[in-house]
Amino acid sequence: MSHSPSTAANGTDPGMVIIGGGLAAATAAETLRREGWQGPVTVVAGEDETPYQRPPLSKGFLAGKEGVDALLPLPESWYPEHQVSVLRGVRAAALDTAAHTVSLDNGETLPYAKLLLATGAAPRRIPFPGVDLAGVHTFRTKADAVALREQLSGGGKNVVMVGSGWIGMEIAATATELGNQVALLGLEEVPLSVAIGAELGTVFTARHREAGVRFELPASAAEIQGSGGNVTSVLTTTGVTLPADIVIVAVGVAPNTELAAAAGITVNNGIEVDSSLRTSAPDVFAAGDVANALHPFTGTHLRSEHWANAIAGGKVAALSMLGQDAVLDDIPYFYTDQFDLGMEYSGFGTLTGDAELVVRGSLETREFIAFWVRGGRVVAGMNVNTWDVQEAIKGLISSRRTVDTARLADPQTPLEDI
Ligand SMILES: Cc1cc2nc3c(=O)[nH]c(=O)nc-3n(C[C@H](O)[C@H](O)[C@H](O)COP(=O)(O)OP(=O)(O)OC[C@H]3O[C@@H](n4cnc5c(N)ncnc54)[C@H](O)[C@@H]3O)c2cc1C
Repeated sequence: MSHSPSTAANGTDPGMVIIGGGLAAATAAETLRREGWQGPVTVVAGEDETPYQRPPLSKGFLAGKEGVDALLPLPESWYPEHQVSVLRGVRAAALDTAAHTVSLDNGETLPYAKLLLATGAAPRRIPFPGVDLAGVHTFRTKADAVALREQLSGGGKNVVMVGSGWIGMEIAATATELGNQVALLGLEEVPLSVAIGAELGTVFTARHREAGVRFELPASAAEIQGSGGNVTSVLTTTGVTLPADIVIVAVGVAPNTELAAAAGITVNNGIEVDSSLRTSAPDVFAAGDVANALHPFTGTHLRSEHWANAIAGGKVAALSMLGQDAVLDDIPYFYTDQFDLGMEYSGFGTLTGDAELVVRGSLETREFIAFWVRGGRVVAGMNVNTWDVQEAIKGLISSRRTVDTARLADPQTPLEDI
């Protein structure tokens, strides 16, 4: 079956169906229309929300500084204005890739010409004793953020964060700024060291400590304890009892692959796709957190759980759905904000394990760029409270040119000249 913008204008034709209501879904819908696709576009949003993005959830939205508008990559009115149908509160229940249909949990069946799986990821759940007590949260959705914001906004609560990754550290910062007392448990000696190494992880933990965050490391929860159904404390695996009005479990996410797997689509740490985001099933594509895409730069599959990848992947998937030649070859990028630390990172974390760390600037003043150099080449770079350098960092990585590390560390040498 072939569909072009001119042949698929009939509303009864199978059109483009997008499963998921996150950033990859919104970007794909926008790209389809921008590229001139005039046939039907249906977004099966899952949550009862207009498609939204998540980064503000743990930052400005949780802090009460940003409203719902900050969550919407496209205003609510964009969808009807562009004849994109959003099925809120409806989930895809099953796919039939031979028949090119999706069954929905409202009993309907949608035919598709091309299908995008943008189902994202969901928080990992660990069956800690007491995890079902009131006051114990995971954190992924707008509803999670609204519920937690209500509890944190007045301050004065004892919060125990189980998990020392980016989300755990961001929520710990926001909860502290709202006047709550936060204790954080993590399996690493230094939070974030798996991602950026202990030396740089210390920059973030030091800032948290200054603000009063208590770290119990390395430790996990042995038991979440309660009274009358409500959480009261957390007993750590190191035998410490931490008072808790609120417990947040942020121990990573797992890609939402069930739909694809049940349809016989290849799943391997996410839905496996080529660099044009095609799955193993004809006319089915995947993008965003759920997609494990072949990256042309490394020649290996990479599943990125970041905002920029959802945007870039949503675009590439839409172009591929339209039959255009498109490849997802962006250098992975993400950012975080914690207290007054703003950070951007680009590059290939998988290549940094045995890399040399080169720092330009000062870790003490927390204004620097860190580079990971492997075999004489920059494979990743991270700027903290230093701005407008991302393009240059990406240029160093993508050019694969050999660098002089002394010049790389020297703030007087423009990055473009290295
Ligand atoms: C709190 C938080 C803060 C973050 N901060 C940053 C940040 O600062 N920087 C950064 O780079 N990244 C950040 N991220 C990561 C970024 O938000 C994700 O990479 C991005 O949301 C991925 O978008 P997505 O569209 O692939 O998936 P998602 O946003 O997860 O959306 C997928 C949607 O699909 C729905 N769905 C699942 N199954 C079905 C089904 N069967 N039928 C219908 N719908 C379904 C889900 O309910 C969900 O709504 C953050 C994430 C979180 C949770």
